[in-house]
Amino acid sequence: MNRGLVLGILVAAGAASAVSAAYKQAQQPVPKIVEVEKLKDNLYMLKNGGGNTGVFVGTTGVVVVDTKNPGWGQPILDKIKEITDKPVTTIINTHTHGDHVSGNVEFPATVDIIVQENTKTNMENLVAPPGSPPPQQVFKQNPGKGMPKRTFKGKMTIGEGPDQIDLYYFGRGHTNGDAWIVWPALRFAHAGDIFSGKNLPLLDTNNGGTGVEIGTTLQNAHDGIKNVDSVITGHSTVMTWADLAEYAQFNKDFLADVQAALKAGKTPEEIAASWKISDKYKGYNIQDARLKLNVTAVVDELKK
Ligand SMILES: [Zn+2]
Repeated sequence: MNRGLVLGILVAAGAASAVSAAYKQAQQPVPKIVEVEKLKDNLYMLKNGGGNTGVFVGTTGVVVVDTKNPGWGQPILDKIKEITDKPVTTIINTHTHGDHVSGNVEFPATVDIIVQENTKTNMENLVAPPGSPPPQQVFKQNPGKGMPKRTFKGKMTIGEGPDQIDLYYFGRGHTNGDAWIVWPALRFAHAGDIFSGKNLPLLDTNNGGTGVEIGTTLQNAHDGIKNVDSVITGHSTVMTWADLAEYAQFNKDFLADVQAALKAGKTPEEIAASWKISDKYKGYNIQDARLKLNVTAVVDELKK
């Protein structure tokens, strides 16, 4: 055998074993590692596996905000056991998306589940946002499990004193059922994906989301909720209340920019190609695909 042929066989064998290793890896379930960030003595943020989960340890039980992707309910429960002996009594879902509600079905059936009333309707038939793959129908696959037991329209308060939690709805944005969860004693809130991080928001027009109203809704939440310092975002780090004000303005500016460009006769393609984020917004992540989707969403809404 000449050296070239030997080398070729070795390379081929190496490639085959790499492929088989990758295949084996794909066959094995990827471990679901929940990362914990302690925010207050009795408030934690659980990361990975979908949206950020809030865990509040109250006097008599635990309140969980959002339950991540399918299969992440048990890892959340396991992690809570490391934090406290108290039982989970309540789940609050910020909105309908599969990476925030799917773990619900893995919690005990006794757990109370609360959402904004439009989110309950959305959860009855899970629909993907524009440009996303169809979600796993976890509630149809697990009949009688994980669906909301209670809803609210504009505001609801559960618990009292140090356990008080206020739930608010300030209007449409990411979806038409984005709940804001506030712990007054801790001066903390959870915003879900209407404030997922410093980025262009996902406007889920298939679930009532809106690029025309999201800036105003964010502003109304910022102005309407008092005495909060910090906010758990849907998918990013904890932000300040001032960051929320800035994010509201960012969304209002985006709408104004698209409106002005439309008035100047630009097509949606031209608007997306020419739009630039203002220098005053530092550390924002602007994705090209999201920019195109959001320009289209806003233009379609304005034409209605
Ligand atoms: Zn979402």
